Amino acid sequence: MKNITLLIIKPNAVKKHVIGDIIQKLENDKFEVLAIKSFVMTEAIADKFYEMHKGKSFFPKLVDFMTNGLSIAIILKKSNAVLDLRNFIGSTDPQSASKGSIRALYGDDITRNAVHASDSDENVLREIPILFSDEELGNNKIKL
Ligand code: ADP
Ligand code: MG
Repeated sequence: MKNITLLIIKPNAVKKHVIGDIIQKLENDKFEVLAIKSFVMTEAIADKFYEMHKGKSFFPKLVDFMTNGLSIAIILKKSNAVLDLRNFIGSTDPQSASKGSIRALYGDDITRNAVHASDSDENVLREIPILFSDEELGNNKIKL
């Protein structure tokens, strides 16, 4: 399972019209797209997806941001996918994200940081089924 991960292009990046650019950069870096969908995150999904952050001061702001606009979810394949994608997107705060990373390029602030990437194999397994149905995964022959 170490070769699959999840990326979300968050609403601020979708509004900047950089979906294509982000996917191109991923493909140039040898990530393979296994599945892709657009969706608007509901409060119920946000509650589940970000359950480890419930009770933190930034949680209401995070949910408000994520539920107000279109997002793109992408299942990606590459060897060492989880770590590679985390390096590719840069650190949580765009101000300190490494030069050329997605968050440095397209993040607006620590909340509106352009993209999400799973941080462990365990979270890949937790997060993907929140966003993709069994049917969507099965149709794409994705085995978690
Ligand atoms: P990451 O997305 O890098 O894994 P976290 O899991 O810690 O970061 O946080 C989830 C998301 O919550 C971040 O991507 C960001 O949108 C938001 N967030 C995290 N920390 C803060 C903070 N201190 N202030 C505002 N928003 C935050
Ligand atoms: Mg995280």
